[in-house]
Amino acid sequence: MEVLKNKILSQGTVIGGEILKVDSFLNHQIDIKLLNEVGLEFKKRFANDEITKILTVEASGIGIACIVAQYFNNIPVVFAKKHEATTLDTSVYEAEVFSFTKNKNYKVKTSKKYIKKEDKILIIDDFLANGNAALGLISIARQAGAGVVGVGIVIEKAFQNGRACIEKEGVRVESLAIIKSLKGNEVEFK
Ligand code: 5GP
Repeated sequence: MEVLKNKILSQGTVIGGEILKVDSFLNHQIDIKLLNEVGLEFKKRFANDEITKILTVEASGIGIACIVAQYFNNIPVVFAKKHEATTLDTSVYEAEVFSFTKNKNYKVKTSKKYIKKEDKILIIDDFLANGNAALGLISIARQAGAGVVGVGIVIEKAFQNGRACIEKEGVRVESLAIIKSLKGNEVEFK
């Protein structure tokens, strides 16, 4: 997606050779026009698939998923929660995820009320690095007996092995910008 790549080139910054910071349009301030184009592009790529629900993880995934859902007939968005909350139902599906940016494990939880075996799930997230967040979400969907139609990623870092891990699970990955390397603080696309 050219518009996304241009945005990354003009506004992204590289941290430590492996992390791309895109706070000006995706992870802190959010560019709604761009996210609408992201939604349209995911709709094109999954045009022939039946999808009943979008599953993502808090926090950055939520805004993206909510706009994407509008291109899929306003289907519901469910986000896995990272934080303990007294308001969360006690009956949950959960998965352990290793955080690439925080370098520690955390649990993601989703109430059993909101994912059912009839569901056909599209997983949406901002970044794909080693695939742990997406694998956690795939696990949650599968615990519910739901089908996973695919994983839609805004920015994939192809020098990490997330895609291979997800494809090994038999799940399709669609990424809108694929980064080959971040060497020397230069973003190179595939
Ligand atoms: P994974 O679970 O695939 O290893 O990492 C994906 C998750 O880590 C995403 O949900 C995202 O929040 C975060 N992440 C991974 N790499 C980056 C990155 O380069 N930049 C930002 N902003 N977040 C990242």
